Amino acid sequence: EIRIANVSKSFGPLTVLDDVSLSLRAGSVTAIIGQSGSGKSTLLRAINHLERVDAGFIAIDGELIGYRQDGDTLYELKETDILARRVDVGMVFQSFNLFPHLTVIENIVEAPMTVRGLPRAQALAEARELLARVGLADKAESYPRQLSGGQQQRVAIARALALRPKVLLFDEPTSALDPELVGEVLDVIKELSLSGTTLVIVTHEIGFAREVADQVVFMEGGRILEQGPPARVLAAPDHPRTREFLAKVL
Ligand code: ATP
Ligand code: MG
Repeated sequence: EIRIANVSKSFGPLTVLDDVSLSLRAGSVTAIIGQSGSGKSTLLRAINHLERVDAGFIAIDGELIGYRQDGDTLYELKETDILARRVDVGMVFQSFNLFPHLTVIENIVEAPMTVRGLPRAQALAEARELLARVGLADKAESYPRQLSGGQQQRVAIARALALRPKVLLFDEPTSALDPELVGEVLDVIKELSLSGTTLVIVTHEIGFAREVADQVVFMEGGRILEQGPPARVLAAPDHPRTREFLAKVL
């Protein structure tokens, strides 16, 4: 379970997250929608402690992200401890960020070997399983540049899963893809949603959110204006701003 409690974050005079609170049940799928600049990526990055929050806290299964608590005081963790805890949180970006000089399978085994300390043989076996799961069993020895964008993104998802994260964060995973490649990536995410990993997806694919998400969160100006099941937030939003946003994107 992930608990985001009263999180605020500013860049200089600009408040990017403004008292954001949100709970994500283990195994649930949360879709975050909202206009450009509303704070969606910053919220994802805060869950990963790639961004330090100014107030509030984020906890995964009761463990604080980036901090340890001593009495009433929070102490920021050392960089090595932050890295160790970040294993629980996988992230998939819009631009796939694969290592160009490594084959697909080497891209996937790198982190499990260095971070989880898996022996190479076991890392390879797990990587092959993950590749099969994202429909790319035959691409293990290819280089990223030899793959389509959709295939590269599926490798990026396999690579994130190789660390066995408790939660997987997707920041607009299909926005960089040609339209005909969007479906294959969404299918993989949908399959994951059935497998029990907690997922958070920033997306403009409203149809996908409606079909796959357990809860939809609408952000504007660093605040959560509305959250709830997709059937309500997307079909009968309470807030006029949500209605305006949906009218634009649908
Ligand atoms: P998009 O849909 O365009 O990806 P977003 O909802 O993900 O937008 P964020 O990337 O979270 O929005 O950015 C929210 C606001 O914070 C924006 O106004 C952005 O310019 C600002 N911002 C983000 N990162 C920084 C930074 N490192 N320094 C200063 N301002 C930043
Ligand atoms: Mg963003």
